[in-house]
Amino acid sequence: KVNNYDVVVVGSGGGGFAAAIEAKQAGKKVAILEKMPTVGGNTLISGGEMNAPGNWVQKKLGIKGDSVKSYYKDTMKGGDNLGDPKMVHILANNALGSAKWLRDDVHVKFLDDQLFQFGGHSYKRALIPVGHTGQELITKLDAKANSLNIPIYVNTKATSLIKKNGRITGVKARYEDKKNVTFNAKKAVILTTGGFGSNVKMRTKYNKEYDKRYKSTDTAGTTGDGIVMAQNVGAKLTNMKYIQTYPIANPKTGMISLLADTRFDGAILVNQKGQRFVEELERRDVISKAILKQPGGYTYQIWNDKIDGISKTKAAHKAEYNELIKEHLLYKADTIDELAKDVDIDPAALKATIKKVNQYAKTGKDKDFHHRAGLVSLEKGPYYIEKAVPSVHHTMGGLVINDKTEVLNTKGQAIPGLYAAGELTGVIQGSNRLGGNAIADIITFGRIAGKTAGNL
Ligand code: ADP
Repeated sequence: KVNNYDVVVVGSGGGGFAAAIEAKQAGKKVAILEKMPTVGGNTLISGGEMNAPGNWVQKKLGIKGDSVKSYYKDTMKGGDNLGDPKMVHILANNALGSAKWLRDDVHVKFLDDQLFQFGGHSYKRALIPVGHTGQELITKLDAKANSLNIPIYVNTKATSLIKKNGRITGVKARYEDKKNVTFNAKKAVILTTGGFGSNVKMRTKYNKEYDKRYKSTDTAGTTGDGIVMAQNVGAKLTNMKYIQTYPIANPKTGMISLLADTRFDGAILVNQKGQRFVEELERRDVISKAILKQPGGYTYQIWNDKIDGISKTKAAHKAEYNELIKEHLLYKADTIDELAKDVDIDPAALKATIKKVNQYAKTGKDKDFHHRAGLVSLEKGPYYIEKAVPSVHHTMGGLVINDKTEVLNTKGQAIPGLYAAGELTGVIQGSNRLGGNAIADIITFGRIAGKTAGNL
């Protein structure tokens, strides 16, 4: 079967939806292909937080001093300056506009009284969608795409790009692994297929460390298809060896722990000896490596009701809370003694650690690890202790794109007809993506891809 469109978008995560919506609004005939039975990709199962310097919630909370420049600097530094400065400038300049677009055009609801300060950021600048997950984003993007009559072909896996006279003119796809389908794209193919965190073979091809010992926080569809398809038509790859682990994931399933977002509001990390070993707001790679160096290669995260009162993750992630309790990966206790006994930590050692934390919370100075936001008192229970391990979360490397999201070949020239945005690109996050930067990236560059295609 053959289908004819102006623009074919491959992948229905946040990047794909943003691209499709913009291209359609510019008057193009657009389709989205999605290999899974449902839309959303990793965007759906992510926390959905989005960095936007100078945002409206910062104003409401009286957070002053944040700027595009500060956000740019944090992002570059967070990625060891391996991001492309020009592209990171585009991200920093457009992040707030992307957030407003989601809010005003797509009708995404963000909390109006809470922000996250993820590791590596100088300010609380990440907007939080209601429900604290990407479900709010995908539900609203999907509704918007529906209202614009953009067809979404699910169970439809793009397998290769069609190249005619040096130009990409469409994609070949398989429907339910049974039927071949061709999608011709008169103007553009936009790849938004996400990263390759779930593809162990591809992970180890580029970095031997991340073999099957590591689980992944990613959806099963996150297998690097777009990167491979583009490479087969001459695209250049970059930063492929940089693979990010999320430090706090479920030791049994590898799933990201969103309940543990209390870490951004003062929860501490200790090892089996009851000792802290890293600044809790360090970069994800630093925390992950530090955890793997501890006895057993895991950590415990500890917080109390006071901290939960700030981050409100218990109410937001009830299902995860119940699941962790059931699996004995999370315990609640009224005293530090009980807490320590629940997980076989020496109570005296844990009490000594907590005593120091309480002192540092009072003075505002964490003498051991220089917690950048200042520690929070753990004097009062009830307490929570959660066991966690690092899990492969985000692949920083991928396609080289330019400011128009054109995919470049190994000679640095644009491959006519081919565009890409989102996690499968490799030029924005450098060696290490900061929290809240994926959504800002995929919406910003997804929209640019859609607008570029819309102008063709
Ligand atoms: P991003 O954050 O970059 O938008 P996501 O991981 O959220 O990326 O979404 C990528 C989507 O692309 C997922 O829903 C995934 O299932 C889909 N996908 C991956 N490979 C293919 C493919 N070959 N054909 C169609 N869809 C694909």
